[in-house]
Amino acid sequence: MAENLVEIKRICPICKNKYGNKLKELHMMLPNEYGLPDAYDVVCCTKCGFVFADTSACQEDYNKYYEKNNIYSDNFCVKKANVKSSLLQKRRVEILEKFIEKDMNIIDIGFGSGELLQLLKKRGFMHLFGLDPSEYAVEMISNKGIKCIKGNIFDNCARELKNSFNVVVTTAVIEHIYQLDGLMTKVLEYLKEDAHAYFFVDAPAVEGFLKYLNPIPNNFNHEHINYFTLQGLDNLLGLYGFERVLEDKECYLDLDLKEEAIKDVELMALYKRTSVEREIRKDINAKKIVIRYFEKIGRMSNKIFELLKEEQEIVVWGTGSYAMQLLAENPEIISRISYFVDNNKQKYNVKIGGKSVFNPDILLKNDQKSLILICSMNNANDIKEQINNMKIKNKYFIL
Ligand SMILES: [Zn+2]
Repeated sequence: MAENLVEIKRICPICKNKYGNKLKELHMMLPNEYGLPDAYDVVCCTKCGFVFADTSACQEDYNKYYEKNNIYSDNFCVKKANVKSSLLQKRRVEILEKFIEKDMNIIDIGFGSGELLQLLKKRGFMHLFGLDPSEYAVEMISNKGIKCIKGNIFDNCARELKNSFNVVVTTAVIEHIYQLDGLMTKVLEYLKEDAHAYFFVDAPAVEGFLKYLNPIPNNFNHEHINYFTLQGLDNLLGLYGFERVLEDKECYLDLDLKEEAIKDVELMALYKRTSVEREIRKDINAKKIVIRYFEKIGRMSNKIFELLKEEQEIVVWGTGSYAMQLLAENPEIISRISYFVDNNKQKYNVKIGGKSVFNPDILLKNDQKSLILICSMNNANDIKEQINNMKIKNKYFIL
C-alpha cells in the first residue's frame, strides 16, 4: 500500500529507512516543562514494517525529560498498578530462572522500582547490579543490599562494568527509547563477549492492541514511541546478532484481569548473543493491526460531550497521558476546568493548559459542586476508592 507515503523526520529506528506510511496524527497536551513536542505521527516503515512515533524530539530531549519525571521509581503506585506489576515480575523471574544460572552476572538497566532485582535476589541470584537515572531509586535499592549506580543507559559505560555481564535486563524501557541503535550498542558494551550472554527485554505487544481496544493513550503517548510486535523485536535484535531462545507463544503474557479492569498483552523475550547478524524479515502485521485499531477505537469517549452539556465547573483527577490526550483532542473542555488534582507530588509544580495541579486534599477545602472527572488509565478504581475514603462529597465520573 502506497497511501500516505511520507519522508519521516525520525529515520526508522530499526532499519534506518527514511520513508514511512503515516497511520495517524496524534495530539497531546503536555506541560512546557516536559520539553517534548505535543504531537507526532504514528508511521510504519516501508522497508521493515516497524511502527513508531515520528517525533521531532531527539534522544537528548527524552533524557532530560526522564531525569526530571522519573515516576517509575517513586512509591506513589497504588494497588491496581501493583497487581499488574507483580504478574509481570513473576513471569520475568520464571523466564530468567529457566535459562540463567544463579551465579551469572545480571545488570538491570533502568530498574525503576527495583522490584525485579529484589525478587531475583530472593530467588537466589547472587550477582545482581542495577543502573537507574533516579537518585531515589539507587538509594532505595542500595539499602536492600543490591549493588547499583545512578546513570542513564546512554552514559559512558564505566570501565569496570564493560563486557562484564552475562545478562542485560531492560524492562519497560525499549518502548521509550528514541535511539534504538544506541541502546543496542550499549547493551553489547555491558555484555560479556562469550557464548553465555543474554538480553532480556519486554515491551507492550502490538498484537494485543486489537484484542483489548484500550484507549489510545494506553498504547500511544509521549513516552511510548516504539510499538513492537515479536517480529519487530526479532528484527532489531537480529541486527546485533541476537537469537531468540523462547518459542513464539512463550513470548506473550496475556493479562486479562477482569476485577482490576486490566487487559493487556505484554511481550517478553530472552535472546542469546551470537556472532551472526540476522537479516530483517519485513513485519507485515504491525501496520494492519495498528490501522484496524485506530479505525475501531475512533474518537475517544463520547461520554465527555454529554457531561459538558451541563453548566458545571470541572476538576480533572489525573494528569497522565490519558488526560493530556483527551484535552488535546477536545480543547473546548479546558475553559471548564478549575484545576487538576493528582497523587503524584512531582506534578504540583507544572501547569497544564494554564491550570494548576494540586494535591487531592484541596477538594476537601474547596466547593463541593465541581464535577470530578477521573482521568486515569490504570488507577481509576483506586481513585474512586480514595474519593470515598476521603469523604469527598463532589460528584465524580470515570472517563
Ligand atoms: Zn524500518
